[in-house]
Amino acid sequence: MTILDGKKTSADLKLEIAESVKQLKLQGKKTPHLAAILVGNDGASMTYVGAKVKACELVGFNSTLIDLPEETTEDRLLQEIESLNNNDDVDGFIIQLPLPKHIDEQKVLMAVNPDKDVDGFHPTNVGKMTLDLPTFLPATPFGIMELLERYNVETSGKHVVVIGRSHIVGRPMSILMSQKRKAGNATVTVAHSRTKNLKELTLQADIIVAALGIAEFLTGDMVKQDAVIIDVGITRVEDASKKRGYRLAGDVHFESVSKKASFITPVPGGVGPMTIAMLLKNTLLACKNKG
Ligand code: NAD
Repeated sequence: MTILDGKKTSADLKLEIAESVKQLKLQGKKTPHLAAILVGNDGASMTYVGAKVKACELVGFNSTLIDLPEETTEDRLLQEIESLNNNDDVDGFIIQLPLPKHIDEQKVLMAVNPDKDVDGFHPTNVGKMTLDLPTFLPATPFGIMELLERYNVETSGKHVVVIGRSHIVGRPMSILMSQKRKAGNATVTVAHSRTKNLKELTLQADIIVAALGIAEFLTGDMVKQDAVIIDVGITRVEDASKKRGYRLAGDVHFESVSKKASFITPVPGGVGPMTIAMLLKNTLLACKNKG
């Protein structure tokens, strides 16, 4: 069994990105600049945004964090987006999700200039991804593809079961893996909350991508011998033995599943760190696209 080490792979990627930044600077070109908008004070969102800003510093990007209060109106947020759209120094920006309930997420994501949409959530970029045109791939699926490629995991002709159909993970993952690309050419089944015979499906899968957000949902009896397991889930589970009162759990019951898996991503240290690295990669691309 091989661990698909997202921590190490993302560190390698960050070194590569830092080297590209150095080259850009040597050529007298612009330093990539990522901005992030955070609305409210959700603990997990603050942690994620903090990690993204820190990663920017590490690779030599400029970064800006726009920290808005929970009661920010939709209009005010849209103004902030417009100003980032018009700011020539900002190459790409993200709006940390989820947004407070009084803000229409779709309207907000639609307002981002697709050329600066380094999360790849704008319909223009989702459309381009679906048509296999060059674009910003959403960071989490992009990170999974990168991990599969770097570990030379065979995907061609394999049966992939993706559990979850969200716009940011499950759906794009299913599209990418069915495309003609290195970590692609797979036959894909998308399972979701209405799927009836999930265990029957997962037992047929050569590769399982678990992205449903239920701690330790996928257990050893649900996977076949030598399956490749990608665990996207991150759930905070109460744990009195930890100083912070919780531990992070994936969607996979690691102990039982890892006994059967040929490759498996751990949580933490698997898909999570890759997501941030791919956001940096998209920002570098946005900067280079500007010429
Ligand atoms: P979501 O809540 O938007 O979607 C969950 C999906 O799971 C839905 O499509 C639903 O139909 C499906 N589902 C729910 N219960 C199911 C069941 N019993 N059987 C089969 N399918 C079921 O979640 P999301 O945004 O896609 O995130 C999923 C998980 O991944 C969460 O734990 C989230 O925190 C994590 N996540 C991690 C990263 C990362 O960087 N590692 C990035 C994004 C999301």
